[in-house]
Amino acid sequence: DTRKYTGMVEDCCCDYETVDSINGAVLHPLLQELVRTPFFRYFKVKLWCDCPFWPDDGMCKLRDCSVCECPETEFPELFKKPSQYSLSSDDWKCQEGKPEAAVDRTLDTKVFRGWPEVDNPWTNDDETDNSEMTYVNLLLNPERYTGYTGESAKRIWDAIYSENCPKYTSGEFCPEKKVLYKLISGLHASISIHIASDYLLDETKNLWGKNLDLMYDRVLRYPDRVRNLYFTFLFVLRAVTKATKYLEQAEYDTGNPVEDLKAQSLMRQLLYNPKLQAACPLPFDEAKMWQGQSGPELKQQIQKQFRNISAMMDCVGCEKCRLWGKLQVLGLGTALKILFSVDGNSHANQPLQLQRNEVIALLNLLNRLSESVKFVQEEGPSMDNRMAPL
Ligand code: FAD
Repeated sequence: DTRKYTGMVEDCCCDYETVDSINGAVLHPLLQELVRTPFFRYFKVKLWCDCPFWPDDGMCKLRDCSVCECPETEFPELFKKPSQYSLSSDDWKCQEGKPEAAVDRTLDTKVFRGWPEVDNPWTNDDETDNSEMTYVNLLLNPERYTGYTGESAKRIWDAIYSENCPKYTSGEFCPEKKVLYKLISGLHASISIHIASDYLLDETKNLWGKNLDLMYDRVLRYPDRVRNLYFTFLFVLRAVTKATKYLEQAEYDTGNPVEDLKAQSLMRQLLYNPKLQAACPLPFDEAKMWQGQSGPELKQQIQKQFRNISAMMDCVGCEKCRLWGKLQVLGLGTALKILFSVDGNSHANQPLQLQRNEVIALLNLLNRLSESVKFVQEEGPSMDNRMAPL
């Protein structure tokens, strides 16, 4: 066996081999279909720069950075609503080169029929605030290389790591502190893998493709980043399975009965998958966390740190990166909410309530992580052959 990663994924309850096989056979194909359904492909997001930390943050270099919002015809019927007010040109300074007219930033609350309006205590944005929101068709805006790099990007990652989730020392035994670092590092690895797997290879010819050297340089040559990616994948998968009852009963209504039934059916196939249940029934055991005396205090502290990370997404100086950054951080915040709290104050018995947008973020995040795990599994071995021993 030439596998590089063997044994249990750290702090999880499944081994690497099982994760690869269950992802390849079950999760990846189901999630790929699920995120294409109308319910899961429209994400509600406040896209303009509202950076509390560095107001002069730089913009990105390439036109591929700007987000292509939904043209009118792309909205499912239920999402259409009259525009309530127009925006001044000042409001567009973060959306370089965008034609002003196309965007509708108001929301019809009827769209969220059957879905509660609840704020997520783990994130900075107020999820119940529907003003200034835009619908984005995620399929038109794949996460890929955008040219966003240099000081602006580095500053954000540095701030996230140094201020909010310091790398734990090897003697660290408090699992809760490790979790936040590993989640961010796993997400960072996944973002890097998506940049490398859809890269602008030749700007003059507009040629896009895989950049395996980049994938190796940023992720594969660091085993801990690969391990953190698998950890994050299992963590989010556990959140989804823990919310089974809620997700099973939710309405996936966009006014397109055929597609909506398909979304519901795919969701059930995911939640009640016999292969998944047999191979990896408990991907991560959240019951082991926050046990000690300082548990509640620690949880508050980590929640505050995660909210800071969430606030930093408003400082991402490239629109498309900001879109996926916000979506994935909301997805992680939703996983944290499902696993650890409803309000962060340990009202453990409070029933779970999720916003429609949280569910969209959670499942799209799981899909991204599943794609990254698949890339690592497929490309990793060939890369290992050409690298010097670690
Ligand atoms: P970076 O990826 O910027 O990493 C900075 C430092 O963090 C590294 O030097 C290393 O010390 C450490 N580090 C790197 N990876 C890990 C890890 N997995 N775990 C722990 N530490 C690590 N660019 C795009 O082209 N498309 C996008 O969609 C995109 N989305 C982004 C979203 C966000 C939220 C942010 C902050 C940036 C995004 N970027 C995106 C920019 C991209 O992530 C990189 O910052 C950029 O490509 C420059 O990469 P780099 O090699 O300098 O290292």
